[in-house]
Amino acid sequence: MPDWNHIETVLLDMDGTLLDLHFDSHFWRVLLPQRYALSRGLDLDTAKQLLDPIFKKHEGTLNWYCLDFWDRELGLDTVELKQEVTHLIAIKDGALEFLARLRRQGKRCILVTNAHPRSLGLKLEHTRLDQHLDQIISAHDLGLPKEDVSFWRELQSHCSYTPHTSLLVDDNLHALRSARDFGIRHLLAACKPDSQAPARTSDEFSWFHEFDEIMPPDQND
Ligand SMILES: [Mg+2]
Repeated sequence: MPDWNHIETVLLDMDGTLLDLHFDSHFWRVLLPQRYALSRGLDLDTAKQLLDPIFKKHEGTLNWYCLDFWDRELGLDTVELKQEVTHLIAIKDGALEFLARLRRQGKRCILVTNAHPRSLGLKLEHTRLDQHLDQIISAHDLGLPKEDVSFWRELQSHCSYTPHTSLLVDDNLHALRSARDFGIRHLLAACKPDSQAPARTSDEFSWFHEFDEIMPPDQND
């Protein structure tokens, strides 16, 4: 359980933390390779062999999260493709209750995501998550991904937060490490980002499976 008495601001990741990562996993691993193969007249295996090194080269960089980059690189309209599978966009069980409890207790809830503004817009349109948050920040507004330690310094000019009274909840271990290196004191890792994939654990961070496990007690409880 987080040390709620010493936490004022909660920085929340979106994909894999508040939302089921299954949408993104399906999009990048299934739909995109299929459509890339179709557009190039390739069989699926050949398309995947071509895509794998491109994915690896850009993983963890701002390009990886930039839909404009992928549209140019692959010659596809990624947002149009994402529209085809919006039925897979889902808020994780307990996430809205978690946000509601935090806000009832006066904690500031800030969404901090690597998602590209066009992807973020699509997710917000389908989930209305914005109604449950105090502020929303995309890494693309800062020009740095969360994996970069400088991101957390730059973030302070977009929303004032105090690292030692802030909690980051994220499923991205690289982002959690850079936040820790910057000095964010409270860190929590989501260990089941994708409802259709096995849970992961590690000794490096405190983990949770379900929001119930980290829910701050209501004042009346
Ligand atoms: Mg994530």
